[in-house]
Amino acid sequence: MTAPVVGVLSLQGDVREHAAVLVRLGATPVLVRRPAELDAVDALVLPGGESTTMHKLAVAFGLLEPLRRRIRAGLPAFGTCAGMILLADRVEDGALGQQTVGGLDVTVRRNAFGRQVDSCETDVDFAGFDRPVHAVLIRAPWVETAGAGVEVLARVGTGPAAGRIVAVRQGRVLATAFHPEVTGDDRIHRWFVDALVEAGGS
Ligand code: GLN
Repeated sequence: MTAPVVGVLSLQGDVREHAAVLVRLGATPVLVRRPAELDAVDALVLPGGESTTMHKLAVAFGLLEPLRRRIRAGLPAFGTCAGMILLADRVEDGALGQQTVGGLDVTVRRNAFGRQVDSCETDVDFAGFDRPVHAVLIRAPWVETAGAGVEVLARVGTGPAAGRIVAVRQGRVLATAFHPEVTGDDRIHRWFVDALVEAGGS
């Protein structure tokens, strides 16, 4: 099979880090800012950054409805941090008027880790992986509640946020509250590309 064309939503955020991982995995990253660019991708990564800014820019670029349509139609998608917020059907502590793309039947809490530990790093067990994933959390959300169709992939193991859900998957939509794109550990991206994009969701 030819390399899948994986879009990286490029309105704002750590686009370059995701594109670099995708290149390492042999996928072809394409920056997505406009509806025509979105039409041309086999999958989409939604980076970390600032979800309120991304929402405003998605509206300004006429991208919000096309994003909703394509994800509803089954486009494989992987969101990290702000990208997780964009993929959530519901947000707690969102900015006034903040909307999401949706696709995951979850409620996320923005900036959930609070001021004390608003950026932290911790190892988390990730479903199906034999070694923990190093989770870098930067003003991260967590998943407050997840619907019955949502698979919980990782929870915080220790500390004040122990038990909080930080990675989920529903069908071909995957999201982490942390940033695997900054650690050099490509396993989650690889799983996304190999299992959810190329193998059709198995
Ligand atoms: N706090 C940011 C938001 O609400 C997310 C932070 C991140 O992506 N690192 O969008």
